[in-house]
Amino acid sequence: TSLWAIDIYTILVLTAINLATVSIALPLIMGRDISHAARMAQGSLIFQTLGWVFIIASDQWNGHWLDPVLSTCSMASASLANYLMFLALQDWLGARPLRRTLLLLTVLMPVGYALSFSNYPVRVGFANFVFAAQLLVVARAALWPDRSKRGATLPWRALITLCYSAVALVTVGRGILGGFYPELYPNFQASHPVNVVAQLTANVALVLTAVAVLVAWREEADARLREQAYTDGLTGLLNRHGWNERAPILFDQARRHRTALALIMLDLDHFKRINDTRGHEVGDQVLRLFSDVLLYHRRSGDLAARVGGEEFALLLPYTDRVGAIQIEQRLRVSLHDACELHPSLNVDYSSGLAMLNANDASLTAFMVRADTALYRAKHEGRGRLVVVG
Ligand code: GH3
Ligand code: MG
Ligand code: MG
Repeated sequence: TSLWAIDIYTILVLTAINLATVSIALPLIMGRDISHAARMAQGSLIFQTLGWVFIIASDQWNGHWLDPVLSTCSMASASLANYLMFLALQDWLGARPLRRTLLLLTVLMPVGYALSFSNYPVRVGFANFVFAAQLLVVARAALWPDRSKRGATLPWRALITLCYSAVALVTVGRGILGGFYPELYPNFQASHPVNVVAQLTANVALVLTAVAVLVAWREEADARLREQAYTDGLTGLLNRHGWNERAPILFDQARRHRTALALIMLDLDHFKRINDTRGHEVGDQVLRLFSDVLLYHRRSGDLAARVGGEEFALLLPYTDRVGAIQIEQRLRVSLHDACELHPSLNVDYSSGLAMLNANDASLTAFMVRADTALYRAKHEGRGRLVVVG
């Protein structure tokens, strides 16, 4: 027997069974505590399953009034599945291009399909071309993640692009067949080579898509763990480890591009005394209050870290001396205001500001200069800023 004699109906049912299995297995493997993105990807697979199930069901009711209803449901499910996958990618990779176009196609699909139902070539041509366009938008969406989403690695994204492009290609084949050569493709089960290849491709692609979703989900979980490892539990600021990981990047960038970089080291005054007289618990509250003020004044792109017990560091890219002094003054005023609201947490701090210069060979050297300024602020009477460099 020829390979092309392969029974489409069998592959179709197997595809639906495979998809249903994956749609049930993924939520079981991934558990309940998952991100919005992972949920959207799971939803996409479920609606893909429904799409195929509706097609099989519509075929059972051939000629019956249920046929157009079930087929239209199939188209609606399949196109919703594409939109959900797009939403998942948007969460994982940042804003994606052509979202409105995809939304329009998603709505257009069932409407156009239902309206053109009585005209086979128009209906089949339309549905397949719109579907292929949707698939290409999703394929594109897996490429070129936002810079802020550096964690998203290439392999799973390439897999998504490959799968969706391949299915788009064979879907165009189906559209040409149904739209222009309906005699070669009189129904969904036609054993035309294009149709056989299309169904086999869809079957393989769905398995690989599920694999890609699993990898994306693992990566997301890893990124979340890394984020936790970088965060100080008491204050929510970056901890020393996170500082050592992130600060050198900003330092190198500023040196390479010769842009301004300000570093402020801050240390609470007589903090030991606060612990001794008001208790360790109040000491912790003071640390949280101070950190909240720091977080409030941190602009996007700034780094704020708790680098020691009651020592903090603030790294301000693209900030000149005047700008850094202004930020420090605002911080001090905010802290004083906060302490007036919470007198029991009253605290002050000393700080040292250093501006990056050509002699700072390393971040450590830069930090030593800011620390020296801080040391001078302590010696000159505390509760003040000293500026060097
Ligand atoms: P100075 O004005 O010279 O900075 O005096 P200081 O008392 O603030 O300086 P010192 O570095 O001697 O004391 C810091 C204290 O901070 C000692 C330590 O017990 C306390 N500390 C460190 N980490 C924590 C913490 O997580 N919670 C609390 N409550 N105290 C902490
Ligand atoms: Mg101190
Ligand atoms: Mg200290």
